[in-house]
Amino acid sequence: MDFAFDARTEELRARLLAFMDEHVYPAEAVAHEQRARLASPWETPAVVEGLKAEARRQGLWNLFLPDAGYGAGLTNLQYAPLAEITGRSPQLAPTALNCAAPDTGNMEVLAQFGDERQKKQWLEPLLAGEIRSAFAMTEPEVASSDATNITTRIERDGDDYVITGRKWYISGAMNPDCRIFIVMGKTDPDGADIRRQQSMVLVPRDTPGVEVRRAMQVFGYEDHYHGGHAEVVFDHARVPVSNLVGEEGGGFAIAQARLGPGRIHHCMRLIGMAERAIELMCRRAVSRTAFGKALGQQGVVQNWIADARVAVEQLRLLVLKTAWMMDTVGNKGAHTEIQAIKIATPRTVVDIVDRAIQLHGAGGVSQDFPLAELYAGARTLMLADGPDEVHQRSLARRELKKYL
Ligand SMILES: Cc1cc2nc3c(=O)[nH]c(=O)nc-3n(C[C@H](O)[C@H](O)[C@H](O)COP(=O)(O)OP(=O)(O)OC[C@H]3O[C@@H](n4cnc5c(N)ncnc54)[C@H](O)[C@@H]3O)c2cc1C
Repeated sequence: MDFAFDARTEELRARLLAFMDEHVYPAEAVAHEQRARLASPWETPAVVEGLKAEARRQGLWNLFLPDAGYGAGLTNLQYAPLAEITGRSPQLAPTALNCAAPDTGNMEVLAQFGDERQKKQWLEPLLAGEIRSAFAMTEPEVASSDATNITTRIERDGDDYVITGRKWYISGAMNPDCRIFIVMGKTDPDGADIRRQQSMVLVPRDTPGVEVRRAMQVFGYEDHYHGGHAEVVFDHARVPVSNLVGEEGGGFAIAQARLGPGRIHHCMRLIGMAERAIELMCRRAVSRTAFGKALGQQGVVQNWIADARVAVEQLRLLVLKTAWMMDTVGNKGAHTEIQAIKIATPRTVVDIVDRAIQLHGAGGVSQDFPLAELYAGARTLMLADGPDEVHQRSLARRELKKYL
């Protein structure tokens, strides 16, 4: 097997690594300071807009989109190591490159299922990084890991749809630049096929009846860098029928299609987060002394570092294999591998970041190191895009089927 990256990937990696060193890491502290002085913590700090302009100028833009008509036209295997690098600074780098969730998944939906008007109105400004977007599926009242439970109604009324429902943990929605929601609801709640009851509609933020009510917290924090995770109420919000994405009853299938690439992107970035944690752990281990010797001279610390390195190497190989399979046999053929990385990566990275926090003492849970934020990000990915248990259930069922 040849594990080397191809020439284009190597060239983009070199440029991206330089961009991270020259622009992204130095901007981390600046963004922090600027955000503290903004009128609203949900606005985008000026330094982030500067990073976006520079990334675009350098051709490090929309790298996630495999369709060369819209993005860089990279395969999953080419994009994987680049997404990993952006994961080292998850607050800034994915946004700087216009490769941040949930916009990436939303752009993919619009590119794949949107009609020409929808693409012109929403995909083009998203591709240009002029606006942001959100994906609204989860509801506080029902177990939303099972999308057939969704209760939001999308009712036809003449040439309009009327949307009524309450969503929460809608990432990005607190950011005032988030101009458009892709809303999942039921157009046919009594339909016989429970997977054909759902549809997706485009709901502009300024539609009467749309209320972004509050920012939900994550471990007591508000996730300012990612536009928060909002509770959003749709109270008879009315949009034209032409805002339907794809066909009526096609919402479930679109949701499945949307989450395949999104999951691998998250896992690639998580590996970058783990690499950052290992780097911080090692720097701390050689620079801090307790009980007469450097922390890195303690056997237990050496075990943490070694275990972290082994785990990251294993994860990276599995993620790259998954990317390669998505490219060669398609997302469906790579189903088991996609689920395997979605199960394995967040929990392993949580463990690595947890050790890095421990090694930093009180500093580990402070705002002076990115570790607490990395931990929260990794931990929530055991829930977001489907909880671990849902993936385990489905993977195990496919495995068991072989023996029935
Ligand atoms: C930070 C963050 C960001 C998010 N961003 C978005 C977003 O942008 N848009 C959006 O729509 N949603 C978003 N979510 C919501 C997320 O997708 C849901 O929380 C997730 O799908 C689970 O749904 P639920 O919370 O209703 O949990 P439930 O469906 O109630 O599940 C609760 C628990 O039940 C267990 N469980 C469920 N099914 C099974 C099973 N089959 N077998 C065994 N155990 C099971 C699991 O342990 C699961 O964690 C986000 C969540 C977080 C934390």
